[in-house]
Amino acid sequence: MDGFAPLTHGYGPQDFRAASHGAGLTRRRLASSIGCRGVGLHSGLTISLTLKPAPLGSGIVFHRSDLGLDIPARHDLVVETRLCTQIGLPDNRAARVGTIEHIMAALAAAGIDDARIELDGPEVPILDGSAAPFLFLIDCAGTVEHYAPRAAIEVLRRVRVEDSHGAWAELSPNPEPAFDATVSIDFGETAIGRQSLSLRISVESFRRELADARTFTLAEDVARLRAAGLAQGGSLANAVVVDGPMILNPGGLRRPDEFVRHKMLDVVGDLALAGAPLLGRFTGHRSGHALNNQLLLALLRDSRNWRSTGGAALVEVEREKLVAA
Ligand SMILES: [Zn+2]
Repeated sequence: MDGFAPLTHGYGPQDFRAASHGAGLTRRRLASSIGCRGVGLHSGLTISLTLKPAPLGSGIVFHRSDLGLDIPARHDLVVETRLCTQIGLPDNRAARVGTIEHIMAALAAAGIDDARIELDGPEVPILDGSAAPFLFLIDCAGTVEHYAPRAAIEVLRRVRVEDSHGAWAELSPNPEPAFDATVSIDFGETAIGRQSLSLRISVESFRRELADARTFTLAEDVARLRAAGLAQGGSLANAVVVDGPMILNPGGLRRPDEFVRHKMLDVVGDLALAGAPLLGRFTGHRSGHALNNQLLLALLRDSRNWRSTGGAALVEVEREKLVAA
């Protein structure tokens, strides 16, 4: 226990919903622990994962139980962005956790502020390649709201990053206190083709529109990845594999535009490394983990680009209201 009693009355469901997207006076965490076992996409190792409640204010922290080390889920600890997002401690090459983006997206979308994620290996299990199994675990564990300040990061100025191949991503101010995303992809003449999607991200929209979209790869890349020691755990059970105009998975796609939906899921997970909900507009064209992380670094490195809203300031307002009453 950390001295904070669960919030059982005083706020209605509407307040909880509002608080789950932005700043507020409630923080949400898991009500109980829950675990699973699964293969790591790149390592091929079978890894045990346990999601646990964490002290209020601790944020999301990964714990490598095999190494006895904590690795906080922070944008400035990202060490690798090829194929997945990997975080690690400086000066310790072993202290890393990979493929964190799908569980980060599920936690962010479920409005979980504080959680401990224990792993006995170097990677979050890929499960079915989407965020749906992680949402299922969170649902089974249950969540609890506590009276505690929750800040949000409001985007004040447009920030843009791009690479040398025409891919780009930007964050800009949003007149409404929400996070809106527009993502487009272009895979030429393959079964993926050109797809785009715009969505206001909320608990409900993430669950309905994005959570079950699986990660994907091109068949021509699979052999190359395997030779490079990557994708050792990859299979048709945890990724959509595209070979030119064909989908190789016997069951086909879950949705016709599953690819762009998964890209948006990745954006939600990668930007969750800001450590607080973002209020702004994301627009990306062919962006991936690398640009998503560069964008967050560019936003947060200049204090004129953003401000922290809510949180402690709201506590003061509430205090004054109580005194006045
Ligand atoms: Zn992904």
